[in-house]
Amino acid sequence: MRGVQKHFGDLHVLKDIDLEVPTGQVIIVLGPSGSGKSTLCRTINRLEPIDTGTIEVDGKELPSEGKALAALRADVGMVFQSFNLFAHKTILENVKLAPTKVRKLGKAEVDKTAKDLLERVGIANQADKYPAQLSGGQQQRVAIARALAMNPKVMLFDEPTSALDPEMVNEVLDVMTSLAKEGMTMVVVTHEMGFARKAGDRVVFMADGQIVEDTDPESFFTAPKSDRAKDFLGKIL
Ligand code: ADP
Ligand code: MG
Repeated sequence: MRGVQKHFGDLHVLKDIDLEVPTGQVIIVLGPSGSGKSTLCRTINRLEPIDTGTIEVDGKELPSEGKALAALRADVGMVFQSFNLFAHKTILENVKLAPTKVRKLGKAEVDKTAKDLLERVGIANQADKYPAQLSGGQQQRVAIARALAMNPKVMLFDEPTSALDPEMVNEVLDVMTSLAKEGMTMVVVTHEMGFARKAGDRVVFMADGQIVEDTDPESFFTAPKSDRAKDFLGKIL
């Protein structure tokens, strides 16, 4: 992202954002509520249009519409706080839907990939159930499998464990940790500090729509530079 600016009416939510996410890195985005973390994620796959600046994914600038945008969205997997699974489709169907429609892959290939992914997130035995029959942690793992089914180049996670009961947080973080270890490029908005320290290559701290600090997790947590970051850490640690 280079020089990205974004307003909602009079509200300046992203102020001149420069952010580079090298292939294979895991970037943890931290910051107080309302600082623009979700908006930043959403601009990366153009769920939100930007006012000015440029965003490139894998060296290609974001197209504004049409087929090129659909293809780019397929390269960017996104997992939200609310799992957003299709309630009237089975777990397996949820994972198969996008690759069938967007990637136009063959039936057998899609089927095999989807089952492998459910295996990978530890849900293979639930494939024929419906979302409501699964726990929140299981549903979120399905949502991760569904995003991975598109074979994305980067995965965005926006507070993926915030809506979960505490005992389910780790099963989702474990899946994310193994993804990170496998070399997936990830942008993760989370307040899970253990995960941030363990899996993060960098911490990007936002406040009021600006990137205030961009450093390695250890430095951020042990020696934050800005008053905003010190204040934030004082509240959550
Ligand atoms: P965060 O994820 O860090 O909590 P957000 O990116 O959700 O922050 O929001 C940043 C600011 O933009 C907040 O003040 C929020 O109220 C505002 N905002 C977010 N989405 C919209 C929208 N669709 N319309 C108007 N204001 C919005
Ligand atoms: Mg948010």
